[in-house]
Amino acid sequence: MASGAQHIRSTLIISLPMGLSAYAISDLHGGIACLAGVLAGVILSPDLDIKTRTSSEYLVYRYMGKYLGLIWFMLWYPYSWFIPHRHPLSHWPIFGTLGRLLYLSVGASLVWAGMTWVGTGNLPAVTLLPDGLFTYTTLWGIIGLVSADILHFVMDNRYIKF
Ligand SMILES: [Zn+2]
Repeated sequence: MASGAQHIRSTLIISLPMGLSAYAISDLHGGIACLAGVLAGVILSPDLDIKTRTSSEYLVYRYMGKYLGLIWFMLWYPYSWFIPHRHPLSHWPIFGTLGRLLYLSVGASLVWAGMTWVGTGNLPAVTLLPDGLFTYTTLWGIIGLVSADILHFVMDNRYIKF
């Protein structure tokens, strides 16, 4: 079983080669999006299904401040409550990745709606899939995130070690 630090280190190692590969296949925007997607895998980790504070939550707390860190932890606590650690809903490549993106979309929409309601007294029109969301660049970002999750899955299953 790989530790959180090993997952982070391995994700950082593949980020640049993945970004350069995407750039070679597509264009600069695709390369940057893929690089960003892989790096996002550090904090959008499958291990957010762990009930205690994870490496992801620690990094957000340390580098983005205690308030964002607390919000990030609270955002993912229900996820860790409902999904057992290493369940297919969190750890299977593609399936787990898309599930976490959907969970994040719903969570961000609820936070946005709550902030708007507190600020204006009205609820905003919220859409989970706004127009123009699925672009070529977005797809490369998702490919990057899926790549990070595939590496995580492989490491959790002891096929390789870093
Ligand atoms: Zn894991």
